[in-house]
Amino acid sequence: MPTAVLVSETGGPEVLTVTEAEPGSPGPGEVLVDVAAAGVNYIDTYHRSGAYPLPLPFRIGLEGAGTVTAVGEGADAKVGDRIAWSSTLGSYAAQVVVPVAAAVPVPDGVDDQTAAALMLQGLTAHYLLTSTYAVQPGDTVLVHAAAGGVGLLLTQLATARGARVIGTVSTAEKAELARAAGAAEVIRYDQVDFAPAVRELTGGEGVAAVYDGVGASTFDGSLDSLRRRGVLALFGAASGPVPPVDPQRLNRAGSVFLTRPTLADHVVTTQELRGRAADLFDAVLAGELSVRIGATYALDDARTAHEDLEGRRTTGKVLLIP
Ligand code: NDP
Repeated sequence: MPTAVLVSETGGPEVLTVTEAEPGSPGPGEVLVDVAAAGVNYIDTYHRSGAYPLPLPFRIGLEGAGTVTAVGEGADAKVGDRIAWSSTLGSYAAQVVVPVAAAVPVPDGVDDQTAAALMLQGLTAHYLLTSTYAVQPGDTVLVHAAAGGVGLLLTQLATARGARVIGTVSTAEKAELARAAGAAEVIRYDQVDFAPAVRELTGGEGVAAVYDGVGASTFDGSLDSLRRRGVLALFGAASGPVPPVDPQRLNRAGSVFLTRPTLADHVVTTQELRGRAADLFDAVLAGELSVRIGATYALDDARTAHEDLEGRRTTGKVLLIP
């Protein structure tokens, strides 16, 4: 029987257990997939810990890429199709049933690992740069955790759109990766107070937008890094959730905008999902976007993958290979 990773009680990485699990047959509009690569994302740690509660027990993981092996009634797909998806719970598995509406076809020339890597983090970087704050050529923007999964993609895509990226990172190796992805400036936010450094790097003006997936430890500095009427896109909480904010602070920071966006609201229709994914795949095929697979683990080692992600030891994308 195929394997899957199960959460029976919430907690630390040790609650991830590998189990034999029947994926079930695909229902109407669904396909059964042999998973080639399953993506590990920060949101999986929120599911596992209970920060984002799910009914127990549940199979964990949202994202992957693989090959269709069975097709449910009316599903617009055929056996042998290569697809990728980002919103199907139970994706840390050898086989999973995926709704076709939540999947995208993977073009020839894009390998399974790259496709899996782009679904959650890539789509997030895409909507942040096109819909949350549409980056303009000449803008300076601040990207936190610039060597992380979302961070490396944001840095490359913002640079390609003509922005000057200031990245923050916590190690010398991560600084190199952020620079290689296009960051014009890199700040070691583990060593220096980044907001004054950003002011200095922008001649006192501040940045047009801050893309902040770190949360608690960066939020105050992010507000202090914005230019007048700048945008703070708070899209995650890798360091913990941000406490309640007095709206008056947005006034004092220079009439700035604060938003807390999520991917689900930016891939509302299958057309929107596939349009964003196509932009990313096209960029890969054109050689304009390089997807770093920072680490791969066996399904059996999902626990170590979570420990490494939460321990800030990973760069780029983390994948599980069934
Ligand atoms: P990353 O690969 O970016 O890993 C998180 C990084 O955050 C770490 O590598 C680390 O980089 C940095 N970090 C800073 N402080 C801490 C801390 N105390 N503990 C752990 N990490 C810390 O993860 P992802 O790319 O998967 O996700 C990045 C963020 O984006 C997450 O908050 C996630 O929830 C969010 N997200 C939000 C989405 C949305 O639509 N809203 C969708 C996808 C992701 P360094 O060592 O350089 O500081």
